[in-house]
Amino acid sequence: MKIAVLGSGISGLSIAHFLSEENNVSVLEIKNKIGGLIKCERVNDCLFHKVGGHVFNAKNEKVFNWFWSFFDKDEEFITAKRNAKVFFNKQIIGYPIENYVYTLDKTLINQIIDEQIEISKNKLVAPKDYNNFEDFLIGNFGNTLFEIYFKPYNTKLWKTDLKDVSMEWLEGKLPMPNFSEIIKSNILREEEDTMVHSSFYYPKNEGSQFIVNRLSQGLNITENFKIEDIEFQDNLICINGEFFFDKLIYTGDIRRLPIEIDNLLISGGIDLEELKALKSNGTSNLFCETDNTEISWLYIPEPFTKAHRIIYTGNFSDSNNRGSSRKTCVVEFSGKISYEEMIKELISLPGNLKPLSWNYEQNSYVIQDHKTKSLMNRIKKILETKHIYLLGRFAEWEYYNMDKAIEAAMSLANKIKRRNLE
Ligand SMILES: Cc1cc2nc3c(=O)[nH]c(=O)nc-3n(C[C@H](O)[C@H](O)[C@H](O)COP(=O)(O)OP(=O)(O)OC[C@H]3O[C@@H](n4cnc5c(N)ncnc54)[C@H](O)[C@@H]3O)c2cc1C
Repeated sequence: MKIAVLGSGISGLSIAHFLSEENNVSVLEIKNKIGGLIKCERVNDCLFHKVGGHVFNAKNEKVFNWFWSFFDKDEEFITAKRNAKVFFNKQIIGYPIENYVYTLDKTLINQIIDEQIEISKNKLVAPKDYNNFEDFLIGNFGNTLFEIYFKPYNTKLWKTDLKDVSMEWLEGKLPMPNFSEIIKSNILREEEDTMVHSSFYYPKNEGSQFIVNRLSQGLNITENFKIEDIEFQDNLICINGEFFFDKLIYTGDIRRLPIEIDNLLISGGIDLEELKALKSNGTSNLFCETDNTEISWLYIPEPFTKAHRIIYTGNFSDSNNRGSSRKTCVVEFSGKISYEEMIKELISLPGNLKPLSWNYEQNSYVIQDHKTKSLMNRIKKILETKHIYLLGRFAEWEYYNMDKAIEAAMSLANKIKRRNLE
């Protein structure tokens, strides 16, 4: 079969590999550089993760083994422990904050512990049974932690009412807080290592760009490929009047489908307005030099700054700081913030930050509301009748990390293989 994969992020590159053995696969990328969100570039010979700082880990054994079939884990990657902290009340304290309540002031400690005791008396509610993200946070952490940390942090990040955020995206992605663990952590004061990504792998050189470059090897990839039109001829999909494919896998933004695919959805009964109204957030990233620190991620909940996180990418690998005598990091802001506005924020952040470069990425975080899952399922069903498949963070509107994107690619490839046999 001839298969077109639109997009060369981790999803597109992965599925191209899964299907290449038995099919003729072409990866078509709209931009002039492959990699999607995990692209990096060197600035003054220091490595700038243009969207956050990407590290790898996977719980799924199949994903884990498949990934390592491309790399030498010991030679080409470092293994590091997550050293996350919270910048709160002008001090750096431990993460997750609920395990470091003892570092807060006495009034807060009293309130938080009383609330935790009350919560522990209630019957355990599964995340999916909460009405929305706000109820989940209050139900699990209590009002005080919600007000001082979870609400301001998540409001800054999501830029949306937390009551409108559905719980479906959370499933399996956040460790569930546990009363006994919280109390023990606060008394024993040991580091937490049960977090989803408590340790991670990171390339010794070139960060996630190294992953992109390696995964692109052996694939047929065309950059700067713009779809002008699509036609459905017999059982084939014709792109730009000259390229014919049996199947098409779309990994771009579901709200920006080629017009012919939109028309297909309309005829299948989808309200395009509902589709185009899906909400997402972009991120603005300021790449900086910083003073030395051991931290990997610093979360900044309070509203004194628009920044919500600093990722100390210079700590992931020394080669990331090659052009500087200092370490480097990325300061993350939700939404579109001008360079001048970001610079103004630096004074209130720790580390004597000096800017090197910046980037704005329009598509970073998907926001799922209560209707998203069912809408996406209906859309997938309609498109699949024409051999068009959706895959990836913005195509499926899923809060995927790289490992989850690979897992989704694996499962879609299996589905396509099964269909080929039918
Ligand atoms: C700030 C931040 C930090 C993150 N940190 C981590 C981390 O540490 N670890 C981790 O595992 N995950 C992390 N993630 C998640 C990770 O970035 C995503 O899971 C992953 O990159 C999604 O890949 P994708 O291929 O689905 O989408 P994308 O990377 O968005 O790729 C889509 C590609 O399709 C192309 N495209 C779009 N439209 C078209 C079209 N019409 N024709 C052709 N091509 C098209 C785009 O140009 C792009 O190259 C992070 C995400 C963010 C936002």
